[in-house]
Amino acid sequence: MPVLVMKFGGTSVADLARIRNAAEKVKREVERGYDVIVVVSAMSGKTNELVGWVEQTSPLFDAREYDAVVSSGENVTAGLMALTLQEMDVPARSWQGWQVPLKTSSAHSAARIEAIPRANIDQKFAEGMKVAVVAGFQGISSEGRITTLGRGGSDTTAVAFAAAFDAVRCDIYTDVDGVYTTDPRIEDKARKLDRIAFEEMLELASLGAKVLQTRSVELAMRYKVKLRVLSSFEDTDENSGTLVCDEEDIVEQNVVSGVAYSRDEAKMTLISVADRPGIAAAIFGPLAKAGVNVDMIVQNISEEGRTDMTFSCPVNQVARAREAMNKTKDAGEVNFRELVADTDVAKVSVVGIGMRSHAGVASTMFDALAAEGINIRVITTSEIKISVLIDRKYMELAVQALHDAFGLENAA
Ligand code: ADP
Ligand code: ASP
Ligand code: MG
Repeated sequence: MPVLVMKFGGTSVADLARIRNAAEKVKREVERGYDVIVVVSAMSGKTNELVGWVEQTSPLFDAREYDAVVSSGENVTAGLMALTLQEMDVPARSWQGWQVPLKTSSAHSAARIEAIPRANIDQKFAEGMKVAVVAGFQGISSEGRITTLGRGGSDTTAVAFAAAFDAVRCDIYTDVDGVYTTDPRIEDKARKLDRIAFEEMLELASLGAKVLQTRSVELAMRYKVKLRVLSSFEDTDENSGTLVCDEEDIVEQNVVSGVAYSRDEAKMTLISVADRPGIAAAIFGPLAKAGVNVDMIVQNISEEGRTDMTFSCPVNQVARAREAMNKTKDAGEVNFRELVADTDVAKVSVVGIGMRSHAGVASTMFDALAAEGINIRVITTSEIKISVLIDRKYMELAVQALHDAFGLENAA
């Protein structure tokens, strides 16, 4: 039988009625002749609640215990989904990550999938089971401990299963009916895209568009998984939603395809560090070791052998970054006067493959922000994106201004 993977996110399994609604969609696919692997998230809000409990208990928590706690939300929905399907006379069974076993690295809270042996699930399909319900977001390390794949990781579980089982498609059911030119929650003129190229989706995801986890897009690209995003609240068919596909499969290419934002950024500046060879390594090595995800980096002009080094990181990693830097200072490895943290910034980015061949995107972007009186703190660019760090209070305004400036309300 051909295998189809269907993933339901938190809002799609938020209560028993929604689980039933999702189960009906699954049943329809079983009736079309598929063996279905369903990947579920925790009920919406659940993972945040669990993370909150961990942080309240232990601010600089042991990541192994964080994973033990935060993975539990998916166990509940997997079992409930299997039960709901059974009540509908669909033969179904649930699997937690360790039961598959979905093997991962030991990088707790950000583990990478290493292998998904098929034997257990294949055997059940051979015995007549029609639906394997898999708890998303979680796996098991070679030390035998539960791991999680990073926030939004159920998307990655789904794509990894689609690759491992040669699925005909991986359908990501969520609370929007596809991938939009920007988050439809903050720009009502946002347009749904019928298709988006893997590379653009990869950038949008990594720059904050949480509709797909970045790693899921990477995996889909690498293993040629047919990946689709669609609504769990509407009637859908083979043409619904947004298909994430190769660049060559898109006829009309926009210069800019989308605007992404990331709200929870912090800008950190090390004031007056020695400007000498090895200083960047001495700063960013310990930060990486402490698990700080450094994003943008700017080294300011040097004066009398000293300089300021600015970097950005997620706002919830400021304490970790500070601790790591104070340790290197105490150890005499990096000498700085002060570490200043600005925790009220956001990152806004424009993304588009067309940027490779069109000049002028940066100036359009900076003009649009200037016209709104928005000050740019840091800029970074790559071949197909431009990102700026700005005051968080202007984030929505910036997204809307850029959406307008690039004419995205007419995108298709
Ligand atoms: P799920 O719980 O189903 O995984 P998420 O909340 O993780 O859903 O992702 C869906 C959300 O992503 C949407 O509700 C929307 O607010 C947000 N989003 C951000 N950027 C985009 C975009 N470009 N297109 C569609 N949705 C987006
Ligand atoms: N429940 C996890 C989270 O909220 C994983 C997911 O939903 O994809 O991040
Ligand atoms: Mg998600």
